[in-house]
Amino acid sequence: MKGKQEIAETAAVCGLYCGACGIYIATQENDTAKLEYYAKMMSQTIDETLCNGCRSSVVTAYCKKCKFTKCAAEKDIGFCGECNEYPCAGLKDFQTMMPHRAELWESQERIKEVGWEKWISERHKYFSCKQCNTVNTSYDMNCRKCGATPGNEFVRNNQVAILQFFAKRE
Ligand SMILES: [Zn+2]
Repeated sequence: MKGKQEIAETAAVCGLYCGACGIYIATQENDTAKLEYYAKMMSQTIDETLCNGCRSSVVTAYCKKCKFTKCAAEKDIGFCGECNEYPCAGLKDFQTMMPHRAELWESQERIKEVGWEKWISERHKYFSCKQCNTVNTSYDMNCRKCGATPGNEFVRNNQVAILQFFAKRE
């Protein structure tokens, strides 16, 4: 494992891939309408919403408060999976709260198995549309660009949980 400073900015400590986050994508694409939507949803300004990934210098307000990032830094580890308390109760709670966190355990295992560089390239592909290669979020039932269903393999594999989540929010 390389030093944590060298880990890509989109490889989150918890095992999430920031590249598939709606806020990250909206920031990269300078999508003002989407940024306004997220800012409103989280009751914060657009500046507070912007994000270039968990390990970058521009982190969205919610993730700035991340206890796992802080904890990993204190323990001088790159990912939660390296910790002797893994998986801790806090991470288990976090994992069950939202469907985009469904594969955290698989991700942590994969990082240990093949390293974060390979994991991140696999995740990138996993979250990309099979038809047009656009990266979609964990909640894009259809591709944002070409409309193909589902938006990516993650959505295909977690469709039930995602639809239940949408239904609860309505
Ligand atoms: Zn597409």
